[in-house]
Amino acid sequence: MLFQDPDFQNLLLLHSRDRRCQKLIEELKELPEDLARLDRNIDVEKKSVELALAEWKSLESQNNTLEKEILSLNDQIAKQRNRQLEVKKNEEYQALENEIASLQQKIEERENQQIEVLLKIDGARETAEIAQGKITQRVAEMEDQRNKRASIGEERKLELEELKKEIEETRKGVDPTFLSTYDRVTKIVSRPPYMAPIADQKCSGCHLRVSNDVVSSVLVEKKITQCDQCGRIVYVER
Ligand SMILES: [Zn+2]
Repeated sequence: MLFQDPDFQNLLLLHSRDRRCQKLIEELKELPEDLARLDRNIDVEKKSVELALAEWKSLESQNNTLEKEILSLNDQIAKQRNRQLEVKKNEEYQALENEIASLQQKIEERENQQIEVLLKIDGARETAEIAQGKITQRVAEMEDQRNKRASIGEERKLELEELKKEIEETRKGVDPTFLSTYDRVTKIVSRPPYMAPIADQKCSGCHLRVSNDVVSSVLVEKKITQCDQCGRIVYVER
């Protein structure tokens, strides 16, 4: 039987290594895009923490500014009150009184703004703390996932290098006639597999019925034979 022929077994071994090699190449093609996508997702998460912290910080700084303005306005009022003690004329006293009233008005405005800011600060602090806690943990998990993906990629690259050497060695052991048929098939068949067993007189590569000539060539003449539909090398597993 052709299937049991050591030369044919060598060809099957080459075929299975070639297929593994192609799968690795396909997988490795996706690696850079996979890693870039994971990096982008990590960045989005990190940015959302940064935004929450920036919002909180900005509100704290608005509060500080208002606080300073209120202190300075109170200082100015105290100064005007001192001047009131020194002035003699009633009009001057009244003018200072008006200035004080306007300063107090300003203080009231600042205090109202401050209440609003303080209310927002509570919410922003909570959001930032939640973001820092939950998202930091999520980022750590995502980075872990990314590193795993990268290290699997590295392993695959090594495996591929190893496999290419094995394929070179395997090719040396394949009968030259078999090898040249096989190499021709890999060029004409658009997709692997390049070798397919026949079952129920159907080629398992294209799932079409093969002719009696093909079956006879495989079983009776025991020759290396191609499917008359798709061109793959066909064989019977026995
Ligand atoms: Zn076929």
